[in-house]
Amino acid sequence: MITCDHHIHSSISPDGKASMEEMCEAAIGKGMKEVAFTDHYECYYGGIRGRYFDRDYLKRYFRELEKCRQKYDGRLVIRAGVELGQSHLDNSEAEMVRGFPFDYILGSVHKLGNVDLAWIRLTDKNVQGIADTYYAEMERLSMYGIYDCLGHLDYIKKHCARCGVPYEEERYFGIMEKILRNVICRGKGIEVNTACMGTVLEETMPDMPVLKLYRELGGKIVKTGSDAHTPERIGYGFEKAEERIKRSLILVSDLNE
Ligand SMILES: [Zn+2]
Ligand SMILES: [Zn+2]
Repeated sequence: MITCDHHIHSSISPDGKASMEEMCEAAIGKGMKEVAFTDHYECYYGGIRGRYFDRDYLKRYFRELEKCRQKYDGRLVIRAGVELGQSHLDNSEAEMVRGFPFDYILGSVHKLGNVDLAWIRLTDKNVQGIADTYYAEMERLSMYGIYDCLGHLDYIKKHCARCGVPYEEERYFGIMEKILRNVICRGKGIEVNTACMGTVLEETMPDMPVLKLYRELGGKIVKTGSDAHTPERIGYGFEKAEERIKRSLILVSDLNE
């Protein structure tokens, strides 16, 4: 059983719903040995800075994390993580974040032209253009961005499911291969994210076809993340994630290292 959840959010994050302490208690209750708090830090296009994200925000995060590390010492390994959105768009912001003592940087694309994907209503007409733009951003992130692992690689799939629009996975294999080659070349990894499960789609992000491709290209570094914003979602769907990781022939010994 996978006992590391490397993608959880606390209420320090603008969208988190529970304190770090509550999340730690739940993680221990679910038999987790290790978690990474990957609260959001978003970078923007065109020199725009997020109102919410600055040094004080990161300092607040580390103060809370330190309290939890002391409180749960010997019971739960707590990694300092950050989910760094679109780091390729603003090098100085991304470098500032990297200056803090993070153990783990999860690189994601949430925004296209500063518009959050969650705010976009996908339709049969616009889905291809938006998915192409999403993958072009992901490719740039994979190439020049700051990250240890790429987060929810095919995140657009979640939004297709949310809007009831079909996601044509094969259409994006070409660019997916380029992204995965960049990841492998740079010695980085990917995550298997279970946020869709029990919500919009019974699949991991990414699922088997991409995991197999990653393995065939020589990819080994994989982390599992529930993307929990609430205590009950910690470790959600991890049995299915583990089964997929094994089926794609990624060695369990490579998992979460
Ligand atoms: Zn995310
Ligand atoms: Zn997240």
